[in-house]
Amino acid sequence: MTLLVAVHDLMKRPGQMREIQIDHAPEMGIGTSVVEVPAKSTVKISLRLESVHEGVLATGEVFAAAEAQCSRCLDPINLDVEVDFQELFAYSSSSDEDLVVLSEHIDLEQVLIDSIVLNLPFQPVCSKTCLGLCPECGIRLTQDLEHGHEKPVDPRFSALQDFANKEE
Ligand SMILES: [Zn+2]
Ligand SMILES: [Zn+2]
Repeated sequence: MTLLVAVHDLMKRPGQMREIQIDHAPEMGIGTSVVEVPAKSTVKISLRLESVHEGVLATGEVFAAAEAQCSRCLDPINLDVEVDFQELFAYSSSSDEDLVVLSEHIDLEQVLIDSIVLNLPFQPVCSKTCLGLCPECGIRLTQDLEHGHEKPVDPRFSALQDFANKEE
């Protein structure tokens, strides 16, 4: 996967600067098992490229939409993703870790993936006040704060409750 940007006009011209807007459609989803920017969705990048002595400095603002599942009530949710990155692409590298200018291009794909993945929530929630599901009947507690049970209504959920009791 590549997201190549031509930088030949900036090379070896310290002080030169250029701004571009990129609409990128990733070939594969970016994220984790619980929250993901889907494949083929539009990822917008406002990119500033600056020529510096060692190479080309890329500064980006990324806007994307992620799909997730609330970790408490399991409802599908959409999340706006806004992340920044700044990386130097060097003309010559001292280690394999370095990003480099290759054939007058820089490849932003991995930078984009890393900056998005590092900023996605581990446990997305539909709202900060989401109370999740009743461990006995599975209804959304946010919709019915008062409800309770005399005894478990469903054997599947009583197993869960035994588990919860052991935790105490
Ligand atoms: Zn929720
Ligand atoms: Zn219940």
